[in-house]
Amino acid sequence: MPEGRYDRQLGLPELGNGGQQKLAAAHITVVGAGGLGSSLLFSLAGIGVKNLRIIDHDTVSLTNLNRQFLYTPADIGLNKAEQAASRLAAYDPDLKLEVFAKKVDETNIYELIEGSDLVIICVDSANIRYLLNETCCRLGISYIDGAVNAFYGYISYIIPRSSACYVCQNGPLHHVDRPEGSRTGTAMVLGTAPAVIGSMQAQLAASVILGCSQAVPGNRYYYNGKDQSIDMVRHQRDPDCSCCGTADLYKDGEMGK
Ligand SMILES: [Zn+2]
Repeated sequence: MPEGRYDRQLGLPELGNGGQQKLAAAHITVVGAGGLGSSLLFSLAGIGVKNLRIIDHDTVSLTNLNRQFLYTPADIGLNKAEQAASRLAAYDPDLKLEVFAKKVDETNIYELIEGSDLVIICVDSANIRYLLNETCCRLGISYIDGAVNAFYGYISYIIPRSSACYVCQNGPLHHVDRPEGSRTGTAMVLGTAPAVIGSMQAQLAASVILGCSQAVPGNRYYYNGKDQSIDMVRHQRDPDCSCCGTADLYKDGEMGK
């Protein structure tokens, strides 16, 4: 019998009984193809997720290469989403890749994430994180959040109108809005931290798609890259949340833009 690409995982009960087909059929949108996105995208493609939408307007720079291993020095100056797709297509020619070399904003976010079974947030901007949270809540699309700083990071799985959302966890935007210069994208981060957190996001995504995730939606899982511990911080859905808690947002089935 010829060897298959997924032979080493098909023996797992979660994969063998239609699980591999679930991975192949899932449509996953990845917002941000930087440090988190590099390990996330390779991991998802590796296990057999076939439908990937990659969104990133940014171009590759030399300072990205300590953590964004989708790219090589030859990619410097080129768009990340396009170069990521090129690299992944070589890794698995069967991938169905959608590429959006666009900056996510209020005018395009619906078209960018509509139709996704799961959105994975790999951005370094608080503003975009809030916008994605609000849009996912409105569209009822579950998403996985992730962020890194220095040696540390966290992941969280959000089910809109069921678990705590990002606003339930953090409060409204004005409480944490920071000047552009303090974005984590320009902050210091050890290159291995996003590799770990991006892989954790991929592992969580796989478990969610396979229906075997035991992570508590709405809670956050914090990874400490110095002592290697993972701590869970509980978050309850806030009935008065300005994003997911009020009846106003969804009154009359309103899902408008
Ligand atoms: Zn909320």
